Amino acid sequence: MRDFDAASLALPGIRQLQPYQAGKPIEELERELGITDIVKLASNENPLGVSPMVQKALAEKVTALARYPDANGFYLKTALAEKYHVHVKQITLGNGSNDVLELLARTYVSAQNEVIFSQHAFVVYPLITKAIGATPVAIPAVDYGHDLNAMLAAINERTRMIFIANPNNPTGTFIASDALHKFLAAVPQHVLVVLDEAYYEYVEDQDRAPSIAWIETFPNLVVSRTFSKAYGLAGLRAGYAVSHPAVADLMNRIRQPFNMNELALTAAITALQDDDFLQRSVALNREGMAQLVAFCKQQGLNYIPSYGNFLTIEVGDNAAELYEQLLHKGVIVRPVAGYELPRHLRVSIGLQVENQAFIDAMVAIANGE
Ligand SMILES: *Cc1c(COP(=O)(O)O)cnc(C)c1O
Repeated sequence: MRDFDAASLALPGIRQLQPYQAGKPIEELERELGITDIVKLASNENPLGVSPMVQKALAEKVTALARYPDANGFYLKTALAEKYHVHVKQITLGNGSNDVLELLARTYVSAQNEVIFSQHAFVVYPLITKAIGATPVAIPAVDYGHDLNAMLAAINERTRMIFIANPNNPTGTFIASDALHKFLAAVPQHVLVVLDEAYYEYVEDQDRAPSIAWIETFPNLVVSRTFSKAYGLAGLRAGYAVSHPAVADLMNRIRQPFNMNELALTAAITALQDDDFLQRSVALNREGMAQLVAFCKQQGLNYIPSYGNFLTIEVGDNAAELYEQLLHKGVIVRPVAGYELPRHLRVSIGLQVENQAFIDAMVAIANGE
């Protein structure tokens, strides 16, 4: 192909970006190493798969795919509004919650603004910020978690958005409800606080913040959630934001008209009805977390106590090498050096046998096998 200096024509913010690095797909490892029986514990997916009730609803919907989906997602928004006791006008649907995070940034953040998030925070926050050409402000973590006081101190008149993941990925750290409430009360109104609760369903009832109810008091608060994790629909891309209706109205002006597809809408509506599947998913996660924590304790490995569906383990200076060795044993985990955690690996909680496969591989590698 002829030479073409595409980069010099592109936006400066985009030129300096590194693409998002997803967990290695099972098929890719199969191709590369010619092995089967691979266990993927790399993308915080639901190890129970897709709820049978959702599978049935999806199968029935296939024949309707010649038509465009409902651009306003009426039935899903209605179901979410009922579940969370909010108005339908407060909900924005997205092609995954990453879509709504991007919509928020594109609605509110300009190249002149600053965006605050924590060190070790979800990589999508700096990615979106830099794409716009805005200034990312990463606040050093405390015990791998958010330093809310330092985040408050970093706010100035150019600050327009703060991203907080609670629980955070990839650390699994969690901010208690009262600390979060105090923080929100101290954030000035010219700053939107985006509270990313992708792992909300895994948090024990007594620990959960009534974050959506807080929007009444804090109109600059936006809560995002997803069907990718506990609801087991990562492959479909379904997420949403709950906000002040005026915020939702603005986001609605720039979103792609059919940003949530027909199958995703159907699956999400049905998933909300399958409480049994959700409960089983959360219970399985609790057991798997205990299994991995027990392994770490037994091996004397440090780990970051996690409120999510993954555990980030300090494996030492050879984390990158260990990741490769695990691949050769058919176990995919997630390196997190890109999150300034070069000594850690993040392991998603799987089925009991999948967690055991990881444990067995770790023991074998430690024994030089
Ligand atoms: C997995 C995850 C999401 C969800 O992304 P989707 O686009 O909904 O799949 C959002 N935020 C964080 C912090 C996550 O870890």
